[in-house]
Formats: sequence, C-alpha cells, structure tokens
Amino acid sequence: MSTRPLLNRRLDGLGTTIFAEMSALATVTGAINLGQGFPDTDGPEEIREAAVRALRQGKGNQYPPGPGVPELRTAISEHQLRFYGLSVDPDTEVLVTAGATEAIAAAMLALLEPGDEVIAFEPFYDSYAACIAMAGAQRVPLTLRAPTFRPDLDELRAKITPRTRLLLLNTPHNPTGMVLTADEQNAIAALAVEHDLLVVTDEVYEHLVFEGTHRPIASLPGMRERTVTISSAGKTFSFTGWKVGWVTASAPLVSAVRTAKQYLTYVSAGPFQYAIAEALRLPDSYFEGFRDDLRRKRDLLADGLRAAGFEVYLPQGTYFITTDIRPLGESDGFAFCRALPERASVVAIPNAVFYDHREAGAPFVRFAFCKRTQVLEEAVKRLKTLAG
Ligand code: PMP
Ligand code: GLN
Repeated sequence: MSTRPLLNRRLDGLGTTIFAEMSALATVTGAINLGQGFPDTDGPEEIREAAVRALRQGKGNQYPPGPGVPELRTAISEHQLRFYGLSVDPDTEVLVTAGATEAIAAAMLALLEPGDEVIAFEPFYDSYAACIAMAGAQRVPLTLRAPTFRPDLDELRAKITPRTRLLLLNTPHNPTGMVLTADEQNAIAALAVEHDLLVVTDEVYEHLVFEGTHRPIASLPGMRERTVTISSAGKTFSFTGWKVGWVTASAPLVSAVRTAKQYLTYVSAGPFQYAIAEALRLPDSYFEGFRDDLRRKRDLLADGLRAAGFEVYLPQGTYFITTDIRPLGESDGFAFCRALPERASVVAIPNAVFYDHREAGAPFVRFAFCKRTQVLEEAVKRLKTLAG
C-alpha cells in the first residue's frame, strides 16, 4: 500500500462536522441538544401531507427535471416577487438543489478557479471553508468582532486584490445572528461593482429577521447580474431532513451552477419539491407566526443565558445565540462544550470551529433556540446551575 495519504490534500483537516459530533454527544449523554441547528418540531402538517400526497400520486418518484420541478421553480419565482419585488424567470433563473449545502458547493465549484480568492465573514459557516477548499480556491476571512459582529468595510476594501473573484456573504449570519444593514449592503454592493466581483449570498434565514425586514443584496443596483442567492426550505419550513434548497440568479449564473450540480446529485428528491411549492405559497400569517415564535424563543433563551452568567450577544436574525463564556470564568469554548453535557446536560457548539484563527473564537459558544418552549425552559434551568 502506498504511503501517500488517502485523503485528498484539499480535504485535509476538514474532519467530521462539529454538528454531527455534538449531536452524537447529545445522543450518547441524553443531554438537551442546543448544538446542531434543527427544530424539534416538524413544519406545517398540511405540508407534510402534501409530500405524502405527492408520493402516493407518483409525483417525483422518478428522476425529476434537473433544474427542479416546474411547480417549485414557479413557486420560488412567485416568492421572490411577493416578498422582495424581484422578478426571476422560473425557467432560466431558478435552480433547485439538495439543500443550501449543495447550492454552496455547486456555486463554489462552478464559479472558482484554483488560486482565486474568496472573501467571507469569519466565523464561517463550516461548509464554506470546505467548499472553497474543494474548488482549490483560497478563503480570505473578514472577521466579525464582538460585541456587534458588524463587518468592517474598510477592512473589506483592503482585502480585495486582483485575485479576488467572489464575496461569499451570509445574512442573517450563522453563528452570530448579525443582519447586514441597508448601508452595509449598499457599501458591499458598490465594492462588488467597482471591482467586478461575483457575490454568492447565503440567505437561508431570510424569514428569521427579528428587527426590520430582510432585503436580498440581489435587489440592489448593479447586483442582479453578479449575484447568486441561496435559500432553503429546511429553515423556513422546519423540514431540515428534506434537503430542498434553491438558487436564484441570472440565467448565465444559474447555468454555470447547474453544470456543477448535475454532477453532484444530478437532481434533487422529487416528492418534497411539490410539497415545498405549496409551502412557499402559505399565507403571510405563516411566515409572521414562524418569526414571532422564534423571537419569543430567542428572548426566553437570551434572558436565561444572561441569568446563568453568560454574556449574550442578542441576534438580530437566525435561530442561534452566540455567547461569551468569560464571565463564567471560562475561556476555552471547546473544553466548555465538551464538558457541558456532564456539567449541565446541555449541548452547545464552540464557535472556534468557525474561525481560521481558533483563538479568536475561543471564548464564544453558540446555542440554538429552534426548540419547544418547555425544552428551552428546562435547558435554562440546567444552565443556571453552572453559576452555583
Ligand atoms: N447555510 C447556513 C448559514 C446554514 O445555517 C445552513 C444550515 N444547515 C445551511 C447553509 C445548509 O442548509 P441546508 O440544510 O438546506 O443544506
Ligand atoms: N445549519 C445548522 C447549524 O448551523 C445545521 C448544520 C449541519 O448540520 N450541517 O447548526
């Protein structure tokens, strides 16, 4: 057997995702899982039934069309118009993917050449670093710093080089909950236009903005032709296991991303696409109710974490709260999260895994609040024992 390492160099060091690791720890210890971000209640019953109906009626049980079933592409196009006034052609400007995860991978593989530079907010959602690496490109972190986690736009400008190909944005931002302001978006868009950069924007938490409303960066002047917007039914409709995501972009960009997607999954699972087409047409009350419920849960967990002694950075969006553990006399989030199931029977995520310079993220720990109220209340009760 050759001594050459088995794992491709580009994947070296990527290891198992922290989410899987921490969920496994929750299962083994029986701790409350506030680590991996998935809801503990399924999405709307009528949407589940729509999936069952599609299965029974034989809709999507055989390979569906590569770009996604027309019903879903039309529903995505209607959603963009209804919420953002954006018109996208369902035939050429929409691509259905296996979750946002595949959309990110396909976009990076399609749009990057080896050696290209990608500027992305650090902490990075973990698949960004992996997908940029798999494309042979270089990530360039733009670090978001506590307490506000706002991007420093002068720093962004300074990081743009002739090799910069793409800005990888994420708003609302996982794990910090930062939501880009209109001014920040305008400034970022102006830089993208000035330097002729592509923008890939992960907006999976588009319906979880607690103050104000979400505005896609694709809606800004000069951005439509250079922006790939990514979203996911997993977040908005609480069906993370269905893995239905999508891309909206100009026809040439969608065509490029589709070329990569075709050779990753070829097509995405059929029957769920019909169900999500119905979900996207739910009345405004669904979207408002979803956001209001999570705002209440954010406040419940934020108050509880504060009372337990954490410094809390209140998120403007997403279903995650980033905390600082230093007021508890701790400084190593990794060690803290590994010990937490034993100490308080709760699982959380050490934000350090989302940083290139792990020390920069060491004191931060992320808690998910997409859980039932009674589960959050019990978690808070347990976390309060840490102080004593
Ligand atoms: N981007 C962000 C920022 C996320 O938090 C998630 C959640 N897992 C994803 C992408 C992936 O979404 P999906 O489950 O649809 O692949
Ligand atoms: N997006 C979720 C999180 O950030 C789940 C991630 C995953 O399991 N890949 O926790």
